[in-house]
Amino acid sequence: MKLAISASAESLDSPVDPLFGRCASLLIVDADTGEIVGGGRNEFASATSGRGGPGGNPDGPERAGRGDFRCRERQRIMTSLVFGPVPSRRLGHSLGINNIPPKICTYSCVYCQVGRTMNMQIDRQPFYKPHDILKAVQKRIEAKRAEGEPVDYVTFVPDGEPTLDINLKTEIALLKQLGTPIAVISNGSLIWNEKVRDDLMEADWVSLKIDAVDEAVWRRVNRPHKRLNLSAVLEGALTFSRSFEGTLATETMLAADVNDGEQNLRQVAEFLARLRPSVAYLSIPTRPPAEQWVYAPDENVVNRAYQILKTRVEHLEYLTGYEGEAFASTGNIQEDVLSITAVHPMREEAIGTLLQRVGSDWAVIDQMVAANQITPAQYEGHKYYVRRFKKKTG
Ligand code: SF4
Repeated sequence: MKLAISASAESLDSPVDPLFGRCASLLIVDADTGEIVGGGRNEFASATSGRGGPGGNPDGPERAGRGDFRCRERQRIMTSLVFGPVPSRRLGHSLGINNIPPKICTYSCVYCQVGRTMNMQIDRQPFYKPHDILKAVQKRIEAKRAEGEPVDYVTFVPDGEPTLDINLKTEIALLKQLGTPIAVISNGSLIWNEKVRDDLMEADWVSLKIDAVDEAVWRRVNRPHKRLNLSAVLEGALTFSRSFEGTLATETMLAADVNDGEQNLRQVAEFLARLRPSVAYLSIPTRPPAEQWVYAPDENVVNRAYQILKTRVEHLEYLTGYEGEAFASTGNIQEDVLSITAVHPMREEAIGTLLQRVGSDWAVIDQMVAANQITPAQYEGHKYYVRRFKKKTG
């Protein structure tokens, strides 16, 4: 529910203005989140007649005020629909689409960087007009092209679950006219629904979240909507992967002592082997999580997780927030090792080969270890070097 509050300034701690129509500011507040979602300074505060402002009488002189407010509100929506492009190792220069208002989701993951889910739902609905999304994206792409900045992907990556948007298929179809590939980063929780699968089929690149395949672990890490069923979610993902012709990616986010246990990882590995994504990403929380007690597993655990998943997944990479150019040889051994370990752990032998190739020696690696950039980790008799991760995320 949205509330219109007459206030004496443009902040929530300012006193209420008793003159509703001619108040200094009219704030539109989301009653669920307590956040200001619209409104602002009332240009009719000094009007001499009528109730004035956005809450005024539509038949009076304030009609213009209401129209002006709607215009500003629409402009605000249009600018909040797209963001970026942001550099992404997965998608290059990715222009983000925020097709879901914050924060409406089917999950309330303990590590979510957008905070706890305030509106949890699994029923799909329209949120924005598809043509507004098209216009906002088109405008941003044209502006970026004029500045010489490329846009490699247009990506649905809202502060919530993108497949809750019932217009997703229409939006993808409209955006495809712009000639830029479309990606959707989804938690996959609605993929049991044939219509959702049908919508996602239109995209060029789809990512699904697979944090757990064990019911108890899934409930602990993703805290799903009570009407969701894990078996149906996993079956839906398998059905989708069999007919999807684009690039299917998965993302497994590890939270220490929540879903980083060996048994869960082996089960996830088995499931990924059946799903056969083009690429599977292993990630850890790198930004403040929804729950303060959540933190990233240490390097040894992340390395162990990588090695376990790697037994069943052909193409597996870290996604840890370090967006280095994987495997690009810059001629600078330190940069090369940082780039590669941002993507996966390096065996000691592989580092030796790299050092040899550039005519360097182990002193460089020792310096990097001393500088806390990388750290050695043992797994099944092999020594690896792993990028240092930030442990506490709160
Ligand atoms: S699915 Fe994504 S947006 Fe939803 S709670 Fe989990 S991390 Fe947050």
